[in-house]
Amino acid sequence: MIRDFEYFAPKTLNEALALLEKYQDECKVIAGGQSLLILMRQGLVAPEYVIDIKGISELDYIKSDAKEGLRIGALTTHRAIEKSAETRNGFSVLVEMEQRLASIQTRNWGTIGGNLCHGDPAGDPAPVLMALNATLSMTSVNGERTMPVEHFFLDYFETALEPTELLAEIRLPVTPAHTGVFYTKFNVIESDLATVGVAVSITLDTNDGICEDVRIALGASAPTPMRAKRAEEVLRGKKITDNLLTEAGQVASTEAEPISDIYASEEYRRELVKVLVARAGKEALARAKQA
Ligand SMILES: Cc1cc2nc3c(=O)[nH]c(=O)nc-3n(C[C@H](O)[C@H](O)[C@H](O)COP(=O)(O)OP(=O)(O)OC[C@H]3O[C@@H](n4cnc5c(N)ncnc54)[C@H](O)[C@@H]3O)c2cc1C
Repeated sequence: MIRDFEYFAPKTLNEALALLEKYQDECKVIAGGQSLLILMRQGLVAPEYVIDIKGISELDYIKSDAKEGLRIGALTTHRAIEKSAETRNGFSVLVEMEQRLASIQTRNWGTIGGNLCHGDPAGDPAPVLMALNATLSMTSVNGERTMPVEHFFLDYFETALEPTELLAEIRLPVTPAHTGVFYTKFNVIESDLATVGVAVSITLDTNDGICEDVRIALGASAPTPMRAKRAEEVLRGKKITDNLLTEAGQVASTEAEPISDIYASEEYRRELVKVLVARAGKEALARAKQA
């Protein structure tokens, strides 16, 4: 049963930030409630005050700019990202990721910001945003701070957000030329969280097709979404072959720190990382060659 709480529904960002400053650890922000309400119903979270930010329209937008890239307000729903022309233009991997995230009903109401702030290591957006080199903007009454998305996740369901802060915006730089990005996940139940998720971004040198840059990000493979940096080194500066991709997968599977749960054992997850890194790498490479 959900414990009684006092409810606020601010209509502006400033009102919400003032409430957060006032109530700090005693309050909880709610956006779509798709994750928070489950925790409240289970009694795992029992705030005195709930601040409903869903009505703050100034945090609900997708804007693209040829130089700056894409900016997504934290209250943008998964479905809006999936359907947006701005996302499709240059960031279609986000669309592909969203199409496999939950059901349409959940995507219609759940927000990208809520997904990230929940800090679930199995969430789909985080690995993709890591592969796309995203930055997060957090705001409080004291102003804004930014950080790369890969620094945001501290531990299992724990993020770098301070109790007085809101996640405001996700920023994605323009994807460099000759870059291919691919996301894949393995899940037991269709439209559910990943058993393992892998995103790979590969940038090729224009002249010789050598791998100039690579980002490999894993979901559901450690207490937090993570970069597989040793696996990236297997590919960086080389002409990528199937053998190298297999090796990168093997290295990534040793970097991962997966747990065993009802969906998969630790060993099975390592095997999934191995296979999915090679597979996603192959698809990203094919896209990079055509980009
Ligand atoms: C049936 C079901 C299936 C799902 N399947 C998937 C899946 O396949 N893949 C996947 O990735 N996810 C999945 N999810 C999770 C879903 O995507 C997230 O629950 C949802 O995106 C969270 O967004 P929300 O707006 O509902 O957040 P809420 O539940 O409102 O909030 C989640 C957390 O974030 C905090 N928060 C929210 N917004 C902000 C903000 N702007 N600033 C600071 N803190 C904030 C809240 O305080 C809370 O701690 C599933 C959920 C359900 C219910």
